[in-house]
Amino acid sequence: MPTMGALHDGHLSLVRTARSACDLVVCSIFVNPTQFNNADDLKNYPVTIENDIQLLIKEQCDVLYLPEKDDMYPADEAIESYALGYLEETLEGSFRPGHFQGVCQAVDRLLQRTTPDILYLGRKDYQQCLVIKKLLELTKRDDVTVSPQETRREPSGLAMSSRNLRLSAAELDKAPLLHHALQQVKTRFTFAKKDELIADAWQQLEQAGFRVEYLELANAQTLKPATDESEPSVLLVAAWLGNIRLIDNLELSRVW
Ligand code: AMP
Repeated sequence: MPTMGALHDGHLSLVRTARSACDLVVCSIFVNPTQFNNADDLKNYPVTIENDIQLLIKEQCDVLYLPEKDDMYPADEAIESYALGYLEETLEGSFRPGHFQGVCQAVDRLLQRTTPDILYLGRKDYQQCLVIKKLLELTKRDDVTVSPQETRREPSGLAMSSRNLRLSAAELDKAPLLHHALQQVKTRFTFAKKDELIADAWQQLEQAGFRVEYLELANAQTLKPATDESEPSVLLVAAWLGNIRLIDNLELSRVW
């Protein structure tokens, strides 16, 4: 499983699942500069490597791959781009230009260097899972299977995230509302009322002090706006609390 470190139980649940299914478990930690479109976010990204190592040992992870920037991006190696199409234009892609190209540059290299059979990813980063599936298609890696895993949450409902470490106490109190707002839409969901429900949830978040970037119902596979009642769909949200940008999602029906 590729990670950027500051490991929490969300990451460790991937390690546990891999541990129960695989002979050899490899975790990578690399804070990939090419996927940050905001210099401050990169500068402030939490680094807790000693603690991460202890956690990985405890979970019986076999190998930690901890590359330096030059190992991942040697000066003489060209940086490629990937034809991700709509998947990188919408939602996260539209607010974080270049982000998914950066993700693919890192994951492509991690795949070359670690040659896994199964890639364990978190559904918390729903769009990223789809992008990485597309990367496997584009690079013709039929021998690698993506295994998307459940989002791990705090008891409050807040999705675990390394960025939660940077929330103030007051922000931590508010942050679970992101998940609750999605749940409310799902509980009251009818396709005819979707715009109204989404507008309500958006307003509720803004009133609580979030700055919402997107809150959308999208096709669960293409991420195009959901236009038909019968298509599998997913609610996706990104919002700022103070200086911290949080994302979450809730599948209305599961397709993979
Ligand atoms: P990151 O370190 O944020 O790049 O995440 C590394 C991997 O862990 C990605 O596949 C994430 O989707 C996954 N992950 C992050 N947070 C969670 C969570 N709360 N539950 C499950 N998986 C997660």
